[in-house]
Amino acid sequence: MSIKFTKDLKESSFLDPMNNFEPKTVVSEIRHDPLTGQISRIFPFRKFNIHNHDWTPFVEESRQKFCPFCPDVLEKVTPMFSADIAPEGRIKLGDATVIPNLNPYEKYASLVVMSCRHYIAMEEIETELIINSFRAGLDYLQRVTALDPDEARYVSINWNYMPYAGGSLIHPHLQILAGKEPCTFDKQLINASEKYLSDYKSNYWTDLINSELKAKERYVGQTGKVHWLSAFAPRHVGDIMGILPGKKTIHDISDDDLYDLAVGLCRVIKFYKQSNITSFNAALYFARSEHAGFSIHARIVGRFTIFPLVGSDITHMQILHDDPWTVILPEAIAQELKTYF
Ligand SMILES: [Zn+2]
Repeated sequence: MSIKFTKDLKESSFLDPMNNFEPKTVVSEIRHDPLTGQISRIFPFRKFNIHNHDWTPFVEESRQKFCPFCPDVLEKVTPMFSADIAPEGRIKLGDATVIPNLNPYEKYASLVVMSCRHYIAMEEIETELIINSFRAGLDYLQRVTALDPDEARYVSINWNYMPYAGGSLIHPHLQILAGKEPCTFDKQLINASEKYLSDYKSNYWTDLINSELKAKERYVGQTGKVHWLSAFAPRHVGDIMGILPGKKTIHDISDDDLYDLAVGLCRVIKFYKQSNITSFNAALYFARSEHAGFSIHARIVGRFTIFPLVGSDITHMQILHDDPWTVILPEAIAQELKTYF
């Protein structure tokens, strides 16, 4: 079944100071997410200039300060898991180490210190780094869901790259969560996927891939079994989804799937770097086996600085009105990103 992509074009008029105060009409867009109905606003900038941001002084300053994730101190200052979760204290996989979060905001909250390197520049992010640290996070999730099936029911793997995206430390790390209830947006995704299946007897995620393949406007490419597309109703600038059809839970995802996801994420990150998007948030969403109609997917959004680092790209619209927005058309993002796939 084909997906309906709904957008309303809004014309606003004013007297233009750049043209002798002649009347001028500007068009903005309000789009509705085809699954959840959530509004996304497309601001009418057509040549929004995102400035490059050089992290070097911040990275150098952070090297002079204490970093709990650097290899010489990690074992001394970071917490360990109790023996029921990890008899070895901290879960290690290659260069990645999973530790409990000292400031948990969910019943099961851990961090994956992705590497022993204090700073990894965007252009140095490689598939192996992602595969290893995501696999380490999945290992933790499999342990806590087996140990406490009543409380560790809904899970996610999250990445805030650099402090501008909310990461409190420069040293690269993931946030791993498992709790009794899904996060608000995750719940919308799960419920709406179930409703779509029940209403249309068809899987939303497969329909989305097929519809985007046909439309050709936002489909970006494929890495193995993962399909990549630029979100029709973006949650932020450069909102890219990597969908793994037919997989739902943390037990379904294979090493090959992680590789396919990592290859795609690296390509998106490379594109961000070239586009002066110097920070990002990413999440890997899962459901439980009883939730019909869901597909595991990754979502990555760019975070940009306004007037190098003194301005935030999060405004009243997201914080106080729950309306995400973007300044770049998803179709324009897809056209450029395609060349990286
Ligand atoms: Zn460090």
